Amino acid sequence: MKTYDTMTREELKGELAQLKKEYSRYQSMEMSLDMSRGKPCKEQLDLSMGLMDALNSDADMYCEDGTDCRNYGVLGGIEEAKVLLSDMMENNPDNILIFGNSSLNVMYDSISRSMTHGVMGNTPWCKLDKVKWLCPVPGYDRHFGITEYFGIEMINVPMSETGPDMDMVERLVAEDEAIKGIWCVPKYSNPQGYSYSDETVRRFARLKPAAKDFRIYWDNAYGIHHLYDHDQDYLIEILAECKRAGNPDLVYKFASTSKVTFPGSGIAALATSSNNLEDIRNQLKHQTIGYDKVNQLRHVRFFKDIHGMVEHMRKHADIIRPKFEMVEDIFEKNLGGLGIGSWTKPRGGYFISFETMDGCAKAVVDKCKKAGVKLTSAGATFPYGKDPHDSNIRIAPTYPPIEDLRTAAQLFTLCVKLVSAEKLLREMQEGTAVKAESTVKSEDASKQS
Ligand code: PMP
Repeated sequence: MKTYDTMTREELKGELAQLKKEYSRYQSMEMSLDMSRGKPCKEQLDLSMGLMDALNSDADMYCEDGTDCRNYGVLGGIEEAKVLLSDMMENNPDNILIFGNSSLNVMYDSISRSMTHGVMGNTPWCKLDKVKWLCPVPGYDRHFGITEYFGIEMINVPMSETGPDMDMVERLVAEDEAIKGIWCVPKYSNPQGYSYSDETVRRFARLKPAAKDFRIYWDNAYGIHHLYDHDQDYLIEILAECKRAGNPDLVYKFASTSKVTFPGSGIAALATSSNNLEDIRNQLKHQTIGYDKVNQLRHVRFFKDIHGMVEHMRKHADIIRPKFEMVEDIFEKNLGGLGIGSWTKPRGGYFISFETMDGCAKAVVDKCKKAGVKLTSAGATFPYGKDPHDSNIRIAPTYPPIEDLRTAAQLFTLCVKLVSAEKLLREMQEGTAVKAESTVKSEDASKQS
């Protein structure tokens, strides 16, 4: 098969005419599909309906230590929930706080607390001239939204299959005291589905930041979200590695059961060193008397233990794996060998990351929208919504029913072809124009000499 950039102008024009015909066929279908967010589909949510039966009016509402879950108290979460979530996060229950329904909320509060009250006795960030943050890109738009909201200057750090560019991370944190944190999604990253290599994790644990209050925001949102039984990614556990490296307070690790049970109605947790826990508790005790223990108990009774959770995640995988594989097949069939796009093939998580040719992502998302398929806005995967190459698109295959997803993926590949062919033709036109102009100029020059 010929790559688009080796086609002649006539060949490209012919291709474009064909693609336009096909595109109008999709437009006439009047679709209305939303693939913009990484949400579980209905069948996935149905897996957790047992949560609704885990507690009823006859239920024993007491914890093993005698705590009545219906009443106030227990700031850091009930012991059973700490055990369950610490198994999920591969940490010690003593290093865990259980929060409310959202880990993003915990990340927001952590930055907010650092702004107003500082980290472990250091100057509150709001009193500093400048606060900066490292942002591996492409990344999670809601992370970038939090740091932008607090007026923190975000610095792009390129991602690769092994994680962020660690040479850059090490250099920047060592030389600039204004850098106070970094967003990390270390496993099945959002949007690429990459998992950090052992070397990357080891280098993170050995960072030597100029700022004493620098923290790694280790968002392990997809820690147990494998797509395959055998082909799973494993990470060195960051808290243990930081301790080993003599940097025990360097990291805040976040997780939640959002994409395990019900997003927005799960439980969130933070794992960190005892020094950090004490610092956080000192603020937390003014914020709440305690989070929702009934929901914590419900989750514990539903799963029983980590084995119940792992089994449950297998059922999720069985539902969404065919969706990922179908999208990847359609991409390969329709775009393979054309040289106009590349995409990731994750073994877990919620997303596929697509790279168009430079300058095409916005136009592709726009064309999909005009034919009734809403994707995550182009640029959203970068701080300030600015993708310097306008090339990254986040694909979220989990939510739509599989037949809708098939149509959407077909339309997507068609739009990639259309926009790429238009771009290449435009460039040919401009190239010819530039060539013609320089010929005229050189003819003029020769006349004058
Ligand atoms: N972190 C990442 C990397 C995510 O992708 C998501 C959900 N899209 C969240 C956090 C949100 O988690 P929660 O529901 O616990 O706030």
